[in-house]
Amino acid sequence: MAEPKKKKIISADTGEDVTNEKRKQAVVEAKPVGNATGLRIGAAILWLLAITFEVLALLVLYGKIDMKFMPGLYQIILFIVLDLICLVIGSQLWKKSNHIAPASKKNPTLFWLHNNLGLIVTVVAFVPLIILILTNKEADKKTKTIATVVAVIALLLGGVSSYDFNPISLEEQQAAEQVITGSVYWSPYGKVYHTHDDCQALNQSEQLTTGDVDQAIAAGRTRLCSFCAKRDAIDTEGLLTDNVDVSDYIPEETVEDVEDEAEEEPAA
Ligand SMILES: [Zn+2]
Repeated sequence: MAEPKKKKIISADTGEDVTNEKRKQAVVEAKPVGNATGLRIGAAILWLLAITFEVLALLVLYGKIDMKFMPGLYQIILFIVLDLICLVIGSQLWKKSNHIAPASKKNPTLFWLHNNLGLIVTVVAFVPLIILILTNKEADKKTKTIATVVAVIALLLGGVSSYDFNPISLEEQQAAEQVITGSVYWSPYGKVYHTHDDCQALNQSEQLTTGDVDQAIAAGRTRLCSFCAKRDAIDTEGLLTDNVDVSDYIPEETVEDVEDEAEEEPAA
């Protein structure tokens, strides 16, 4: 049902097939879906490293370690930056793993915690540090002020990059696997995959990636294009779709055409 149909484009002048001339986009094959367990182990190691750098920043603050070649404040900032880098990379691996092996939505709290574990680690990696800098009595005022500002900025950057703005559940992934059996297409940007490479929403894209729906989800394309859903008469119950109201965007006659087609080919 969802198998994309390649439409031939025939020139009205010559009657010749100009499909390939008309197709603007280069289409590349998606990479194989990675290993979720490997990504999660990588995330855990990087998060542990992040917290290690937090502890090192604290040890400098308390005068327990001192790398003589640079001032104490620079050492603290260096460790905060290293803390942030490890945290952000770890969180990206974690989010990627959740698009390969999503958590179940049955328990909404656990689902949220699982998707946003990076956010929790961000709090652990910076909030104790900020509190201990602020309550430290030995460091001078300048060191405390600058270190606090840097740590708060790191907390905010880490939080934004660790939060999953585009989560998908096991149930939504399974629904997509069941309904979308053919190849799908996606552009370099956005959260949407398409069942048709000539979808009107892809007109502006110069490059498309193609793969199965699992590869699309792993690439962060969690939503089925509503134009394509309408065109294939896909029952979107249980699927994530984008929020475009098709009837607002397609000229009326096209909508009728699509509906007529849908009646002729009832969904399997
Ligand atoms: Zn589409």
